[in-house]
Amino acid sequence: MINFNVPPFTGKEMEYIRQAIENQKICGDGIFTKKCNEWIEEQTGTKKCLLTTSCTHATELAALLAQIKEGDEVIMPAFTFVSTADAFVLRGAKAVFVDIRPDTMNIDETKIEAAITERTRAIVPVHYAGVSCEMDTIMAIARKYNLFVIEDAAQGMMATYRGQALGSIGDFGCYSFHETKNFSMGEGGAILLQDEKYIEDAEIIREKGTNRSQYNRGQVDKYTWINQGSSYLPSDMNAAYLWAQLEHAKEITDARLARWHQYDVLLQPLKERGLLELPVIPEGCVHNGHMYYAKAKDIEERTRLLDFLKKNGVWAVYHYIPLHTAPAGKKFSIFYGEDRYTTKESERLFRLPMFYTLKESEVNYIVDKVKEFYHI
Ligand SMILES: *Cc1c(COP(=O)(O)O)cnc(C)c1O
Repeated sequence: MINFNVPPFTGKEMEYIRQAIENQKICGDGIFTKKCNEWIEEQTGTKKCLLTTSCTHATELAALLAQIKEGDEVIMPAFTFVSTADAFVLRGAKAVFVDIRPDTMNIDETKIEAAITERTRAIVPVHYAGVSCEMDTIMAIARKYNLFVIEDAAQGMMATYRGQALGSIGDFGCYSFHETKNFSMGEGGAILLQDEKYIEDAEIIREKGTNRSQYNRGQVDKYTWINQGSSYLPSDMNAAYLWAQLEHAKEITDARLARWHQYDVLLQPLKERGLLELPVIPEGCVHNGHMYYAKAKDIEERTRLLDFLKKNGVWAVYHYIPLHTAPAGKKFSIFYGEDRYTTKESERLFRLPMFYTLKESEVNYIVDKVKEFYHI
């Protein structure tokens, strides 16, 4: 069986975890957490990066920093993972979904402005598959209406938009280091802050509402409860696992891109015959090989294809069930405007195996099976 995902492992993880243990500092903000934060700051050109316990928690932290409250509205796509909406719904806000673009599966930037009301507080672009949303347009709308932009860059590390790292363009950016992402620490994430004025508040929220981060730096001589907060800092053992991958970030990205391009070249004949649609990478976007997806004719054909692949030892999957059609979506969200593409395109989309150690021969085999299914 060719797995859909294999968690990244570069070889030094055990050694670094052992070091974290030997340092007798296995809680948060030890040396590996600091190394990761600084590496990400440098890599992305961000003022401040703070590792968190997940991307979901990074987004919750962003919602707290933006002071999202009951009755606020937050604009986002419905074609996304639940966390994108959950982080705001937890604060009592309503998720306002607008349609996606069929080419990138990202939020349709031309649909955002009409969905803005007096209650709108933020826009949450999701960079699907590590391919950027149209950020120039989104940032211009946000500035015009004085809205926060919180990038769900869960899939976007090491990808750029017009030369800028995804996650570093909006007010706040959120990364995921879940085991299904390009870089992992088991469960984990990070928040990227562009403006210095949010750093202190972010550190306080992340540390249970205390100023312990300042205390650790010797800036105050005791720490105390300052504000609302939660526990969003990960163990240094998890950061040690992540550090082993950040040291090989380029190699991991290059390996994924090589397999991505292999799929893309080998599947062209199916595209030319109108049998499959393949991903589109708009000008100005450099992606990170997070995902190789394609679109079948419809849900029925997709179901048969995924079954056929499974019978042939290939684990391919689909996602997402659009959030407005889910039980919680009916309670906490509205879909503004027409759902022209969100449901239709999500029902056609499937993802082929993609991970750092995926072999060239495995991609050849997978594509052969897809071709066999389509009799070409
Ligand atoms: C993976 C993912 C998340 C959630 O990340 P966690 O680290 O598991 O909380 C959120 N949004 C998107 C788009 C994702 O792909």
